[in-house]
Amino acid sequence: MVVSKQLERYKQFVGEEVIDHIYTLADELKGLRVTHFNTTAEGGGVAEILKKLLPLIDELGIEHTWRVVPLDETSNHFAAHLVDLLQGNQPGEIGEEDRRIYLEKLSQALPDKRENQADIYFIHDFQLAPFAQIYPWMRPAIWFCHIDTSHPNQNAKRYILDFLDEYALCCFNGAPSVFPEISAERTQIIMPAIDPFRTKNAPLSEVEGQMLLTKCGIDTTRPLICQVSRFGRWKNPWQAIDIYRLVKHSVPNVQLALVGAMEAADDVDAQKVLSSVQTYAQGDPSIHLLSDAELITHREVNAFQRYSSVILQRSTREGFGLTATEAMWKYQPVVGTSATGLRAQIVHEQNGYIVDDTEEAALYTLQLLRDRQLWHNMGEQAHESVRQRFLFPTMILDYLQALVRAARPLALVQKKALGD
Ligand code: UDP
Repeated sequence: MVVSKQLERYKQFVGEEVIDHIYTLADELKGLRVTHFNTTAEGGGVAEILKKLLPLIDELGIEHTWRVVPLDETSNHFAAHLVDLLQGNQPGEIGEEDRRIYLEKLSQALPDKRENQADIYFIHDFQLAPFAQIYPWMRPAIWFCHIDTSHPNQNAKRYILDFLDEYALCCFNGAPSVFPEISAERTQIIMPAIDPFRTKNAPLSEVEGQMLLTKCGIDTTRPLICQVSRFGRWKNPWQAIDIYRLVKHSVPNVQLALVGAMEAADDVDAQKVLSSVQTYAQGDPSIHLLSDAELITHREVNAFQRYSSVILQRSTREGFGLTATEAMWKYQPVVGTSATGLRAQIVHEQNGYIVDDTEEAALYTLQLLRDRQLWHNMGEQAHESVRQRFLFPTMILDYLQALVRAARPLALVQKKALGD
């Protein structure tokens, strides 16, 4: 059995049993070649997960390739519209002509089959869902939906469902997002998770943390409310400003940081949202809008999540919300919303708050700012809940299980074991 040095390190957090289970599954899959496809190498939760997951799985003897298939501007707009419908349940259709152009572009994305040959294909997100239909050699294929599809626009759902028959397995990041039209035998939940060893999540001294915040223009002698999230409509940065303004009535020296480094090439809406938020902030010097990817590296994200006085996550839609997990790991009770992914992580009044209303959210924020013992106690629980449920090994287990489920019916596993 292969023992992974990287994986061994997690035993201190998750115990031996989980790690041994991973070894057993990995042994069954040894020698398998898996290729992942997504649309961006940087920014957002998917890239975040793949970067860390793949080297580790490689070490377990399962060969992984990651192919980024960048979309052009027209396709990005199509994808942005699709996510608004699928995740936001906005009214609307997907135009016949737009579909045709999009499919045509995707069918030119991978000219060479040989370059992409693998035993199993993992297709990430709704943008690339047509892949298995377009490329019949992608078998078996697994689709992994990373957005919140718990309340989809029915037209958009039908559009996506048309492509899903070709997949051996469809993975979702939470039970509410699973499309009921797909049979249980073909669905699987893979809960996202964070890596405590990444720079972003690793221990960071208070002195260094304060220094990094100062560098970003924060006055570390004043209380700081913060939301770390790319500038996206569904992250609702406007409500974070409303909450800050309400809190300011009682705590006049409070500051707000909205931290969202712009690095995802496929995030066509970010610039628009940032401009709107800038206007909304009305030049208030205590509102810090931080979008410069050169300034906001993972160390700064760590500092904001760890040393802000209170963390908000005001998403109106959220498939999972790694930013909440990351902050909770850093002992922060998050003032979240009832968005699907946040409900999966936050237990109201135990390790954070689930609250949609602006005034109520401001009251909870104020409570956490004033009662630091309460903040501390809830933060301890937040950390513990992430340790138990959302650290990397748990996700690796789900992921390997998906591979086993896709590989077994085709006897791929046995074939490999016999030294194919
Ligand atoms: N992130 C980052 N820098 C930023 C803002 C976000 O590195 O300025 C990271 C964040 O730490 C998290 C990921 O981007 O790991 C966002 O994942 P999430 O699931 O919260 O949201 P998504 O962007 O995928 O909707």
